[in-house]
Amino acid sequence: MEVTHDVLILGSGLAGLRAAVEAARVSQDQLDIAIVSRVQLMRSHSVCAEGGTAAVMRPEDGDSLELHAWDTIRGSDFLADQDVVWLFVQEAPKEILQLDHWGIPWSRRPDGRVNQRPFGGHSFDRATFAEDKTGFFEMHTLYDTLQKYARVKRYDECYATSILIDNGVFQGIALWDMTTGDFFLIRAKALVMATGGACRMYGFTTYSLTATGDGMAMAYRAGMPLKDMEFVQFHPTGLIPSGILITEGARGEGGYLVNNKGERFMQKYAPSKMETAPRDIVSRSEITEILEGRGFSGPDGLDFVHLDLTHLGAKKINERLPLIREVTIKFAFIDPIEKPIPVRPAAHYCMGGIDTNIDGATQVKGVWAAGEVGCESLHGANRLGANSTAECLVWGKITGEKAARHAMTQKSLPPVPEKKLRDEEKRVFQQVGHGDGSEDVFVIRTELQRTMDQNVAVYRNGPDLDTALKKVRELRRRIERVKVTDSSRVYNTNLVAVLETTNLIDLAETIVAGAIARKESRGAHSRRDFPTRDDINWTKHTLAHYSPDGPLLEYGPVTINMWNPVERKY
Ligand SMILES: Cc1cc2nc3c(=O)[nH]c(=O)nc-3n(C[C@H](O)[C@H](O)[C@H](O)COP(=O)(O)OP(=O)(O)OC[C@H]3O[C@@H](n4cnc5c(N)ncnc54)[C@H](O)[C@@H]3O)c2cc1C
Repeated sequence: MEVTHDVLILGSGLAGLRAAVEAARVSQDQLDIAIVSRVQLMRSHSVCAEGGTAAVMRPEDGDSLELHAWDTIRGSDFLADQDVVWLFVQEAPKEILQLDHWGIPWSRRPDGRVNQRPFGGHSFDRATFAEDKTGFFEMHTLYDTLQKYARVKRYDECYATSILIDNGVFQGIALWDMTTGDFFLIRAKALVMATGGACRMYGFTTYSLTATGDGMAMAYRAGMPLKDMEFVQFHPTGLIPSGILITEGARGEGGYLVNNKGERFMQKYAPSKMETAPRDIVSRSEITEILEGRGFSGPDGLDFVHLDLTHLGAKKINERLPLIREVTIKFAFIDPIEKPIPVRPAAHYCMGGIDTNIDGATQVKGVWAAGEVGCESLHGANRLGANSTAECLVWGKITGEKAARHAMTQKSLPPVPEKKLRDEEKRVFQQVGHGDGSEDVFVIRTELQRTMDQNVAVYRNGPDLDTALKKVRELRRRIERVKVTDSSRVYNTNLVAVLETTNLIDLAETIVAGAIARKESRGAHSRRDFPTRDDINWTKHTLAHYSPDGPLLEYGPVTINMWNPVERKY
């Protein structure tokens, strides 16, 4: 079976919805648009975004585009492409206003202007927020706006398994409809990849269960290089023991990080920024405190430090951080009004992703990527908090427009031979009902997560990374022998786990290989055996190309046209 559309948006998170709205808007509802999501639209991971969206909204009070650009570039440890950052800071305020016009309930200041809170690494209070449910309200606003357009068709709970490309030109996406068991093809003139990040390869993570890097892995296997994959962000405040995020907004609102001696230890590591230093620095500080015996002992090796909000008082916590209070009570049985919250660094964000240019265009004609799946090189080696939702909005808009304009110039759809789809269907369902495989996917996934948690985390070193690579390659061989005991094609969650885990293994290999090769410490990639940044040899982007024997690495230049790299101190 096949269906056709003009523009296909793969993913219904913030980036996907923003792209869909823009594609519908610029084509004045003339184009026929499909949005595909492996979950029901509003269950996309973006609804979890809590603390805010960064943009310069108060130049009259002292903020400026230059300052936002400088914060982002310094935060990136000088690996961001500076032309990309400049475009971003100019476009982000327009997106905040656009959402305002579409009806988002931004939290307000007493004079009616949008409120903004401090966030890590920003030198001005520029995280625009809607309580501590920013992503939820942004998603609802985009979804409501999309209702104005008639020619948008949704494919919810459809799992994409591969991108079909012929001679460097996009043809379509192969999809498994999990609600019916059908396997089908969507052909389209243009594709926007908006499938999000991949940190579910870690055990202790803030991510939704469905953020398994499918889009990155599909693109990689289809021949699109992945850029800067070795840079994985660890958020300093993952709640013990689940990893659920305690937003940076909690520190932005004045929360303290405290060790077992009652000291605000950030004084030692980032005296000017304290708890609102960039995430790579705060995460390293916490792990150093724990390793040097000043942490608290936690379950399953999850030793922690304290995030103390008690001095903020009930009124502020209830007004500004209601979700954090609810989550902490429900998942740690602690009321943050009364007691400190146990936290430690949790895998949180992929700085790397599908290689794109400044417009979000990939190397395949007709394919763009936006949001966390893509890497236009905004975040470099370390993302600043609140810059991701802003990135989703900015590049959602850019790629939605580019894809729509491209589709409007294409007269016909590239054909796809029937055999190509049948071969893909065979590949996807080959293990279904074959209970005779020797491996259990859940065991394989747990081993992958344990390996990544132990060896590819906040601090890294050569021998640990080598151990991780060996293990990841072993798991890749073992997953070939996996059993899928469920024989149904409808909601076969056993099969979903196999597809996801295969994707996570491929991506883990790119992360580890990139980390082994990069013999320096920069941003979130911190090697004990190469503890300093090496600007002469390593101011360059990593590109990982797929090969059946593992990633082939090459390197590309970083655009530096505003500020030369300097030592990074806070
Ligand atoms: C808990 C938490 C809080 C955060 N808070 C903030 C914040 O306050 N500010 C900020 O700037 N950033 C924040 N971030 C980061 C930010 O939320 C994410 O980077 C961003 O929302 C990603 O959006 P996205 O549109 O790229 O992808 P997602 O929202 O992850 O959406 C991905 C979409 O792709 C679909 N998809 C994936 N694979 C497939 C497949 N195989 N087939 C079909 N569909 C597929 C999914 O169904 C989904 O619709 C936070 C992250 C976390 C984990």
